[in-house]
Amino acid sequence: MINLKGLEQHELESLAEKEGESSYRGRQLFSWIYQKGIFSFQEMTNLSQGLRDRFSSIWNIQEIEAIKIQHSEERDAAKFLFQLKDGERIESVLMYFENRLSVCLSTQVGCAFKCAFCASGLKGWKRNLESWEIVDQFLQIQKRNKDRISNIVFMGIGEPLNNYDNTMKAIKILHDPLGAGIGMRHITISTVGIVPEIRKLAEEGAPIRLAVSLHAPVDELRGKLLPINKKYKISELIEACRYYQSKIRRRISFEYTLIKGVNDDLELAKKLASLVKGIICHVNLIPLNPMSEYPHQAPDSKHVRAFQFVLEKSGIPASVRQERGQDIQAACGQLRLEMENRKVCA
Ligand code: SAH
Repeated sequence: MINLKGLEQHELESLAEKEGESSYRGRQLFSWIYQKGIFSFQEMTNLSQGLRDRFSSIWNIQEIEAIKIQHSEERDAAKFLFQLKDGERIESVLMYFENRLSVCLSTQVGCAFKCAFCASGLKGWKRNLESWEIVDQFLQIQKRNKDRISNIVFMGIGEPLNNYDNTMKAIKILHDPLGAGIGMRHITISTVGIVPEIRKLAEEGAPIRLAVSLHAPVDELRGKLLPINKKYKISELIEACRYYQSKIRRRISFEYTLIKGVNDDLELAKKLASLVKGIICHVNLIPLNPMSEYPHQAPDSKHVRAFQFVLEKSGIPASVRQERGQDIQAACGQLRLEMENRKVCA
């Protein structure tokens, strides 16, 4: 049986035509699935009973299963743990910001990049998510919320540019105005810094916001935190960012997780400022979200502000990421890990 979830509008149109129906039927299906969040043919009230029965005998609309939903105490964030058909688990986070509702999606089961302080890579990479599994994180969360989700950030488990085709297909589907209609400008891809894929994304021409996990302005230190730096040096990465900006005229975000005594020296803030000079950008300072496997802490808030001040004084806009849902372990991969560990202990 063909799973309709994960198919684009034109693909559903040709599927309908192959069944001897008009392409309009394909558009109806598209809107039921991605705009209305209806995954049962029997509920598609603008299709005749005959069509509903015929479609359910040849197609299905698969779902991932929400097995745990945790709300933060302030109810400004919720974390979803999903189980996939093969038993693997991923997580997504919903965050409320003033008048915006943002969802953070995963793109892979596990992660291959093994950044020192990130929980997602601890157990390695298992597989890429299919485009329907990426899209369904959004749909499952949207259908449980009355407010429309306005923004998508690919900052969950995995590296979106290491699952390039499925991520881009999911973006196309979620962008389509007949579906969820999320503007490209409201979509952010966060990358560990895969240089060729950043250049490839630039060629797509879509105004997707790029966020680059930098975390250190010098190769030696970045290499210790992010093993990928051994393959693509900082200079190549910055060159790729400049290229991206020359093609996609949008501000780039640099993410910088602040780790006490590791990468928080104010001299490094100065180096960071001169490194990104000339790029229209913004630095997102993220105080380390601690985990037991990485015995380090975030600097105190006074030091975080001092780091921010050095950047701003050098002309680089910087903000400190508001921590949301620390009580529900909203940092990447932490819930999945906690559940796995629990499974092992049980
Ligand atoms: N693979 C992508 C997206 C996932 S991680 C990337 O590397 O960008 C999203 C962001 O959270 C990255 O900047 C990552 O470095 C950061 N991050 C991961 N674990 C963290 C932790 N324990 N504390 C603070 N930031 C963390």
